[in-house]
Formats: sequence, C-alpha cells, structure tokens
Amino acid sequence: MGQYYIFYETDIPYLVFFYLIQTMKKEFGEKYGSIEDVNFTAKYRASCFCNAVEYEVRADPVDAKICHCLGCQKLHGAPMQWAAIFHKHDVRITKGIEQLHFYNNEFHKLERILPCKVSCGLCHTPIADEGRNMWLAFPSLFGFGGTLNVPKKFKPTCHIFYSMCIIDIDDDLPKWSGHKNKSQRL
Ligand SMILES: [Zn+2]
Ligand SMILES: [Zn+2]
Repeated sequence: MGQYYIFYETDIPYLVFFYLIQTMKKEFGEKYGSIEDVNFTAKYRASCFCNAVEYEVRADPVDAKICHCLGCQKLHGAPMQWAAIFHKHDVRITKGIEQLHFYNNEFHKLERILPCKVSCGLCHTPIADEGRNMWLAFPSLFGFGGTLNVPKKFKPTCHIFYSMCIIDIDDDLPKWSGHKNKSQRL
C-alpha cells in the first residue's frame, strides 16, 4: 500500500513533464499562430535546407532590411543578412519544432533567451532571428526562385549597419550606419 502511494506521487512530475514536452512539440509559443487554427491561411511557406523544419506566414512582412553588421556576417557566413519582419501571430511552425536549436548571441547560450537565433538542428540552416516581439525571417528560405518572383513587400527598404559593410552595394536604397532611422544616414 505504502509502496503504491510513493510510486503514484513521484509519477506526477513525470506526467507533467511529458505533457509539457508534447505541448512544446505541437506549439511554438502562445504569441505564434496555432497549428490548430483553421482560420490561418498560409500566404508563403518556408523550409530549411534539409526540409526537417517548415513554417508558414499568413501576411506580408512589415519591413525588410539588409544588415551588414559583423554579427550577421559571422553567424550567417555571408557578407550580409536579408531579413523580412513579421508579427509572431502571423507565423506558425508546421514541421520540426523539436528540431529547432536556439542560440542567444549576447550570452553565448544555447537557450531560447530572446532575442535569439533559431536554426535547424540537422542542417543548421539559420531559420530566423526571434525577437521579443517580432519574427525576423530570412527570405531565402521561402524559395521564391528569381528576383522577378520576390513579392514586393519582401524587397529590402534599406541597408543597416552599413558602416561595417564588406561588399559595396550599388543601389538607391538608404544606407544607415546603424539602425534604420536611429543612426547616421550614409
Ligand atoms: Zn534542416
Ligand atoms: Zn546584423
């Protein structure tokens, strides 16, 4: 009798734990679109290189920028980062939540401390920058396939952190030394 009682008590944390794991797998967070929302109509779909992770958005981005900061250069292994900004409620992960890796580059921790980098744990494709309020998507993952197919709202409106630029860009877009509207216009 006593043995049964002890077993029952210690079992509860396990049940709660497994319930949380299941919930976490199904949903990315309450701020995001739900996989069970039948009114969520995908406008664009994105996937990582190995297709383990897929997500969709139901709106156009609110802005799109090209960032030339050193952090983006190193973390992407690229001269610049192209990001399209979405409200979290317009984004939902449809596949591979359990594959996602998180990295906070301020504290150098593999944890989902916002803002953080989100990547695929298998192919390590950078999926997005998860901000406190916004989802900064990398449009390359949407596979538009050619400049003519890139929707207008995904086109960058400016260059930011251009003071750290390592490849000169010859276009008519505004170039900011740091953040848009909050730094010197170059
Ligand atoms: Zn992948
Ligand atoms: Zn950057």
